[in-house]
Amino acid sequence: MKTRTADYPLVIVGAGAAGLGASEEAARLQVSHLVLEASHRTGGRGLTEYLEGRYPVDLGCHWMHSASRNPYVHWADQYGFEYQREPYHFAMYFQGEWLDPEKNQEYETFVKGFYSSVCDLYRQNPGCSLMEAMDGSSEWAPFLSYYLSLMHSNDVDQVSLADVVEDQDTGEDWPLRDGYGALIARQGRDRPVRLNSPVHQVNWSGKPVRLETGRGTLTAESVLITVSTGVLEANQIRFHPALPAVKLEAVHALPLGNHNYQFFSIHPGMFEEVPENIHYSNGDQSAALRIRPFGMPCLFTSTAGRFAWWLEKQGPEASRDYLTGVLTDLFGGTVTRELRDFKVSAWGYDPWIRGAYSSMKPGCFGMRETLAETVGGCLYFAGEATFPDFVNTAHGAYLSGKRAVREFYHH
Ligand SMILES: Cc1cc2nc3c(=O)[nH]c(=O)nc-3n(C[C@H](O)[C@H](O)[C@H](O)COP(=O)(O)OP(=O)(O)OC[C@H]3O[C@@H](n4cnc5c(N)ncnc54)[C@H](O)[C@@H]3O)c2cc1C
Repeated sequence: MKTRTADYPLVIVGAGAAGLGASEEAARLQVSHLVLEASHRTGGRGLTEYLEGRYPVDLGCHWMHSASRNPYVHWADQYGFEYQREPYHFAMYFQGEWLDPEKNQEYETFVKGFYSSVCDLYRQNPGCSLMEAMDGSSEWAPFLSYYLSLMHSNDVDQVSLADVVEDQDTGEDWPLRDGYGALIARQGRDRPVRLNSPVHQVNWSGKPVRLETGRGTLTAESVLITVSTGVLEANQIRFHPALPAVKLEAVHALPLGNHNYQFFSIHPGMFEEVPENIHYSNGDQSAALRIRPFGMPCLFTSTAGRFAWWLEKQGPEASRDYLTGVLTDLFGGTVTRELRDFKVSAWGYDPWIRGAYSSMKPGCFGMRETLAETVGGCLYFAGEATFPDFVNTAHGAYLSGKRAVREFYHH
């Protein structure tokens, strides 16, 4: 019997950092392929928009983490994207007052102590959560918990110690003036992406693999899945036969939390004398503010974890009130006159993402590696959740896509 030839040797599902990185590697290895993207744009969780139509703001990834090991720094140089390399300094406004440097140092000591407890506890009981490594009675605990929720997108009691211990983060965080989202989209501009093409079903019961998409059926010898664990958990792609139980267990162990940015553009002359980064904590409210990034008349903060889910559900006005409340507390009520265009992200609501990024549940181990494993010799997996070295980052996603294609190529 004659075997049907596939339309493509490789189809990549998703045109975020992982899918675009995979496509770049496939092109380098001269593998004919197609990228199917559900939404109307490339970039996924990399997305740059504009306040007042001109000031770029990142709704998703913003910092080139682990910069000295981050391949996007190379792309930023190649495409002339400006970035800031200086170490991150911040002023602290804590329970109604600006802290002096000595008190700031106390906070930094608390943070160092927390990270050393994480390592100690991991050796004794690796199944614990980040919360169990923190002295919750400390005055600094609420702010550090908030800050850690920004890094993991889930709250500290929901994140495994392993996600901190195994992460190879170098601590160099470089923001891009014109946006990380814009850089990812630029880097992936020439890739063979078919937009508005959601994959609904992947039938791998025989060869070739059949993909049912919003724009018809196509076939491939192998398929690389790069969608988020939120999309996989919601069964938005039906696999026939179903994925093995161990793969579903990995999806379940790596849930997306939430993380949303809130931005205002401001009157051009405003806040020129104010610190660029402010860590704010008052009562049960915390914020990490960035004022006039790259000298642009705008500012932003972000929320994460359960609070971000709640705030997003209330609608954009609630996010606006939250940021306005923080600014009023810091600078007085007259500040509201100077606020102009407002923007807020809503990653939980995005039907093709369903959250921000993954964190491993306490008590789970090695799930990122399991999620990355090939199934049936024809289904490959990549995406931020599959890359343990650079946990939940854009460059981790990008490198995971390249890794998966090399695996496919050498198979
Ligand atoms: C608020 C926020 C802040 C962040 N900050 C940083 C940061 O500062 N630095 C950093 O390095 N990282 C950051 N991240 C994380 C980083 O953005 C992600 O880890 C990375 O972009 C994920 O890329 P990905 O390719 O794995 O997934 P995605 O970007 O989710 O790409 C998957 C793609 O698949 C598509 N898709 C979904 N379902 C289907 C389907 N059925 N058919 C076809 N296509 C489908 C989606 O539309 C999407 O385009 C942040 C993320 C968020 C949300």
